[in-house]
Amino acid sequence: MQELPSVAESARHGGPCIQAPDFAHNDLFLSAPIPIMVEDWYHVYLAIQKIREQGVTNVDDYFDTNPRAIEELRALHSFVEANHAVLELFEASSKEVFFDSARKLLPANRESNIVVYRAMLDGSSACQGERTLVTFKGKEVPIVWRCSLPRDAEGYRRLCFYAFDVTEQKENNDRLQALRAEMARAARVSLFGELSASILHEITQPLSAASTYADAAARWLTRKTPDVEEALSSIQGAARWARDATDICRKMRGFLGKVPVQSVCAPAGQTIEAALFLVSPEANAKEISVTRRISEDATIFADPVQIQQVLANLLLNGIHAIDSSQSTIRTLSVSVQRIDDGETLFEVCDTGSGMSNETLESLFQPFFTTKADGMGTGLAVARSIIDAHGGRIWVESSSAGGTCFRFTVPATAYNSTNR
Ligand code: ADP
Repeated sequence: MQELPSVAESARHGGPCIQAPDFAHNDLFLSAPIPIMVEDWYHVYLAIQKIREQGVTNVDDYFDTNPRAIEELRALHSFVEANHAVLELFEASSKEVFFDSARKLLPANRESNIVVYRAMLDGSSACQGERTLVTFKGKEVPIVWRCSLPRDAEGYRRLCFYAFDVTEQKENNDRLQALRAEMARAARVSLFGELSASILHEITQPLSAASTYADAAARWLTRKTPDVEEALSSIQGAARWARDATDICRKMRGFLGKVPVQSVCAPAGQTIEAALFLVSPEANAKEISVTRRISEDATIFADPVQIQQVLANLLLNGIHAIDSSQSTIRTLSVSVQRIDDGETLFEVCDTGSGMSNETLESLFQPFFTTKADGMGTGLAVARSIIDAHGGRIWVESSSAGGTCFRFTVPATAYNSTNR
């Protein structure tokens, strides 16, 4: 570990110089519209020269092995003078108040200070860096500073740092970044198509279920005493899933070709049973109990396969939410009932740990996901399906109570046409 004898040594040779009558009485300097700080870096310069003599060429490596050197070098520097614009920048009531706290306001900052040390070591004629200041009133101000470096050691007794408040540019930049991210997302959406991307997501479930059932059938048949009945039931399960996958593809093609939704009148409970049939293996595997409450009189005038898809997505999301939470109650509940104005209301609630405000704001956006293996299309598709049916979908979530998704669809053809 390299010591920094030069720093301690320089400190012993007397403190930094603090006198600058020329700057303090120069109107041009005092009233300049740009914040200018005059600082004495003479002893820092000497210390850096010693470091150079030790053979140090890479200042970053040097500070990695000597982390205390940043503070030690900073202690060798002092503030000499500041113009009115500096006081304004820091929201200081007077020069005395500012200088009393200058060390606290501008503490050692590796990222910013190292720029000057590197320039000194390299013999550069100027340097420029960034840092965020905190004013007397606690406001954070991002600045870009610039400084010209003199040729001789004496010149370091009066280094001028020019500061530029870049709050506005930073805000514009942040907005630009957000806009670019949004454009990139939008480009992705239009490139693949919101719905075409989701085909993969949607048909993966039934296809993997079909293969699980087929494997189970093979196991029943290859037992010592084959159980044909169980095997038959597994094969029927596999066939049902395969039909589902085909059906979903057909519906997706319909969506892509903008074919209108083919609504039929059906008991609402059937769609819930069909969705539960899809997701219950996953719920069982994760030891999550599923409760259902189905009003006998609840009907839908909708495309049952599409509604089943919405429900399956919401139920799967609920299962994932419960499974990734610490909750001791592991219950997923689904219900459906007829509500007043000719609509049928579905509800899917979980006992997971809810979602953050950021997630709440973005969760229906295509490709938004917080899961490592998520596609972020489930809810976007769910919303487009419900919109296409003239219904509404919304969510309520809290860290204590978990998440509830609700959506409505027309209860009858009459309600659908009168919307
Ligand atoms: P995916 O689950 O494939 O990422 P979704 O569109 O289904 O895509 O969901 C988007 C995001 O919404 C999820 O990544 C998750 O962060 C959040 N989300 C959805 N449902 C729930 C839920 N029940 N509880 C907590 N967060 C959820």
